[in-house]
Amino acid sequence: MSEFLENKARKEIFSLKPYVPGKPIDEVKRELGLEDIIKLASNENPLGASPKAIQAIEDSLNQLHLYPDSNCFHLKKRLSDFLGMPENCILIGNGSDELLKLIAETFLNKEDEVIYGDPSFVEYEFTAKIMGAKCIAVPLLDFKYDLEAVLAAVNEKTKIVYICNPNNPTGTIVTADELKDFVLRLPDDVIVIFDEAYYEYNENPQFLSGLEYVKEGRNAIVLRTFSKIYGLAALRVGYGLSTPEIVGAIERVMEPFNVNSLAQSGAIAALDDIKHINKGYQVNSQGKKYLYGEFEKMGLNYVKTDANFIFVDTGKDSQEVFHKLLKMGVIIRTGDIFGFPSFIRVTVGTMEENQRFIESLKTILEA
Ligand SMILES: *Cc1c(COP(=O)(O)O)cnc(C)c1O
Repeated sequence: MSEFLENKARKEIFSLKPYVPGKPIDEVKRELGLEDIIKLASNENPLGASPKAIQAIEDSLNQLHLYPDSNCFHLKKRLSDFLGMPENCILIGNGSDELLKLIAETFLNKEDEVIYGDPSFVEYEFTAKIMGAKCIAVPLLDFKYDLEAVLAAVNEKTKIVYICNPNNPTGTIVTADELKDFVLRLPDDVIVIFDEAYYEYNENPQFLSGLEYVKEGRNAIVLRTFSKIYGLAALRVGYGLSTPEIVGAIERVMEPFNVNSLAQSGAIAALDDIKHINKGYQVNSQGKKYLYGEFEKMGLNYVKTDANFIFVDTGKDSQEVFHKLLKMGVIIRTGDIFGFPSFIRVTVGTMEENQRFIESLKTILEA
């Protein structure tokens, strides 16, 4: 590191690990000269965006010279009707990633501690570390959040606990009973973030949304996104639900035009396209069952998922599996970055994509 950087940059930035995104299709095309590629690496909707959202975006193209509505009035109103929550309980972000960063900027001081599961979504650590907070990563138990261990890690310095539900990368949920017990025993002044990015895919009757606790007035924030089932990952729009007090505090830190106008129009239309959402849900539900069946036939252990991706043990080095799949035009995520070097995380695609993934995986594992 140069002396200049060492003296001038905040020392926190040197503790950050670079984010490893799912490999973009275009990059694989350039690097391997392949044409026909499927991406099952970032839990995107394989059906694409809702045609209604695309139409709404086209309709707002003639407004590109104007700044977007900084208050996201129409989107907040639509979400308010949809969720039965007052508008002053809703935050809109440039993806829920931005909301995670704003939460950290609003609440975290150097002496604070945050707690999250390990492995879980890396943005919790990333955003907390930028602020210099101390990060406590509590290992999962049987691929699930271990709420007893999380409670045991809480002390007077704990400011935020992140619950990723369903958890990325394992796809598991904490059940309603577990959650109720946990929230009862957690000190009231600890802020709980319920990251529910995969909420709409859940099929498990044991699931309980953290929204219950927001409605009760607890110091809690629920995060959801338009990047997954709504199929709008490129637009960057997510939302948060919390008390008016917490929403007001976070809005103080927010850039005035954080959500662009195409994202605002697209999100409203996507919310209204129930048919498209139901189809995404069905395709995922059928795809999950197909993949479970195939993994069982291949003798592979996998984690039952309540989201749109599956964490599966290939029994081989995941980097090797990744590179071999890549050469066959299939992009997945390796488990080594999550501390599970023989696992891969695969997004449930269309049936055609799932079959192609399985055929490719078979070829590799049988070789
Ligand atoms: C994909 C994902 C998000 C969504 O991020 P956006 O910034 O809204 O695209 C948030 N949390 C988890 C756990 C995710 O997997």
